[in-house]
Amino acid sequence: MSFISRFTMRWFILPLLMLISVTVSAQQPWREGEMQVRVYPVNAEDYAIIRQLGLNADECDGFLRCYLTPSELAAVNAFGIPAETEIPDLNQWSASFGPRGVPSGYYTVAELNEIADSLALNFPDICTLHELGMATGFNVLKALKISDNSATDENEAEVLFDGGIHGDEVGGPENMIRFARDLCLGYGTDEQITSLVNNREIWVYYCVNPYGRENMTRYNANGVDINRDGGYMWNAEGNSPSAFSQPETKVYRNLLCSNQFVIHCSYHSGTEFISYPWSYRASPTPDNEIHDFLASEYAAHSGYTNIPYEQGYTGMYAINGSTKDFGYGALGVISWSVEISVSKQPAASQIVPYYLKNRESMLTMTDYAGWGLEGVITDALTGEPLPATLYIEDYFPFASDPEVGDYHKFLLPGYYNLRVEANGYATRTFSQVMIPETGSAILNVSMTPSTAQFARRMITCQIPNNNFNDEGNTPAATGSPDNVRYSLGRMGYAVLDMGTPVVDGEGNDIIVYENDATPEGYFLYAGQTMDGPWELLGNATGNHEFDLLASGLPDARYIKIKDDGDGQSQVADAGFDLDAVEGIIRIPPADSTGFIEGYVMSVELGEAVAGATVSCGQRTTMSDEYGFFILEADTGRVEICASYPFAFMYGCDSVTVTPSDTLTNNIEVRIMEATLMEPAAQGQYFIYPVPAGDYFIIAATTAGSREILNYKLYSSTGIKVSSGRLINQETTVVTKNLPKGIYLLNISNGIKSWPAKVLLR
Ligand SMILES: [Zn+2]
Repeated sequence: MSFISRFTMRWFILPLLMLISVTVSAQQPWREGEMQVRVYPVNAEDYAIIRQLGLNADECDGFLRCYLTPSELAAVNAFGIPAETEIPDLNQWSASFGPRGVPSGYYTVAELNEIADSLALNFPDICTLHELGMATGFNVLKALKISDNSATDENEAEVLFDGGIHGDEVGGPENMIRFARDLCLGYGTDEQITSLVNNREIWVYYCVNPYGRENMTRYNANGVDINRDGGYMWNAEGNSPSAFSQPETKVYRNLLCSNQFVIHCSYHSGTEFISYPWSYRASPTPDNEIHDFLASEYAAHSGYTNIPYEQGYTGMYAINGSTKDFGYGALGVISWSVEISVSKQPAASQIVPYYLKNRESMLTMTDYAGWGLEGVITDALTGEPLPATLYIEDYFPFASDPEVGDYHKFLLPGYYNLRVEANGYATRTFSQVMIPETGSAILNVSMTPSTAQFARRMITCQIPNNNFNDEGNTPAATGSPDNVRYSLGRMGYAVLDMGTPVVDGEGNDIIVYENDATPEGYFLYAGQTMDGPWELLGNATGNHEFDLLASGLPDARYIKIKDDGDGQSQVADAGFDLDAVEGIIRIPPADSTGFIEGYVMSVELGEAVAGATVSCGQRTTMSDEYGFFILEADTGRVEICASYPFAFMYGCDSVTVTPSDTLTNNIEVRIMEATLMEPAAQGQYFIYPVPAGDYFIIAATTAGSREILNYKLYSSTGIKVSSGRLINQETTVVTKNLPKGIYLLNISNGIKSWPAKVLLR
């Protein structure tokens, strides 16, 4: 068939197919007459046709495994794309497994649940069973959390493993339940497992689609493919009627949103492949280097001789609405799927071998989740943990845990700039934070109150039929206005999580920023849940303020914004260009003033600090030679802060000032670990741990070179306390007899020197 005739036929067949409605029967696990078919696309145009026909397909080695109704198969045949039926009647085939639902030798859903129950019962200290919600087919969705003190959320990196989203791919849940059992049984005896259970929070979501497993189908009981129903760049594939339309997808989304997973592996079968984002578009993610490195480590630690790993769009069949694109795109999780076996139903004798091929890799990923950068984010006044959003370089942003304040991000060794934003707090930035070769750097961040409130993450988005002429930069719509925008696409929409509810107050409450020379139109809605209901706040063009009163809601945490449909769809910046959404926080004005006096005291040094900057609102002063200050302040509850940049000391207090009165209040300042890492990052060496205790190690990043390096350590008053030479570019400086405080370190190669500050405590 020539290109011309095929092209003409496409225009003829597509409208016909649109008339054939997709019939999904609630009684049958597969669609009426559905077949499993091997389709052999020859070139890119064949792939484009299959995409355009909206066929449900999985990439396999050398062919596409498609799930087709007779009319869909007829369309494939009409285009002349070779096809070969594997299972002629999937409903008949699934019925052949009888009441157990799975081939003999595999666990049924009931058996998986029994094992999970028994693990939680027998290992109560390290294994907690979570009921996540109801699935279709009257199944309760359950996940195991395995960690020391598993019932509480601790400052530990979290990982997620899941299986069985496609019920007919039977290996995933088998791997999951064996992994959970190995973690429980190995705790206290196996050194590696004990350490990981103690230092990580491991979630095992062992059967994502129980109806699918009970009935040997890739769909849930509503006939929807859960791995196409995800809301990030959703595009109506896999019979999905709308983004996050299914109970299984909502539960999955809520599990990811309410935890802070660093790494997420989702298990499939049908081929052997590790497929990372994006699945919906060809351009690589900003985190591509991280995905690629971790996938290479997964492959290297696995029992597969040469399992390929690649971006899903290019290495596998392109799909929209996948779990990995949601995990990464909406939440910044390093998220991917692992295809563990060529056969979707391998012989039962292969269950354990396939598990063992993945076991070491799963442990390795669990370990890596705690590498890179981590820390705790707290309120500078109260010390309470905070939900914050972290932006590291141009990687996709991610969140800290609202309960514990901890955050974790896998990073390759090097130097990184980052920004921390939280609603009700002033933004903080850090430059050149050093990530070591192994393990993690710790950067604890304290935040001071302000009136900032901005959208924190984009949960759902759709650009109809995709628009690869635009970069799809969803994080651009989060955080404060910065003239970087996310284009909604023509007729596209997005649901944004404001992080904290916007409260209806006097006047307008929400500001939408486009900050663009060519303002475009949109509709804005407010809701109290991610799924609505959505109340219209109004429509506008360009920057505009909205009053929440129009919605009738007292407060709203979620915002839905929809393009008005003007303009072209397949161009750069199509649709409304969203820079930021702000929620207005109101602080009542002060009507009179009083005074605050006291000393700035260093917690670590135990003495007053001269020359510190003290500020309260717009007013500032400096502490005198005795560390004493006096400052005029607004009355009422105010915050007073002191900082001493030389030693990176910082502290704040919240106090109540009464009119014309003078309040005595000393301000304690602490040395922030965060900023101490900055000078150390500028040399060609690194220092750890920071802060140091009985010793610290200096290691040059040019290890192996023959350059001779010497170091000298001085006290803060300039007295040399230690010196020596780096041997093999490394040395350990013993400091246990030195008083705590700040020291100046100088490393030199005789020509050039690198200074750094080291805190001992
Ligand atoms: Zn699958």
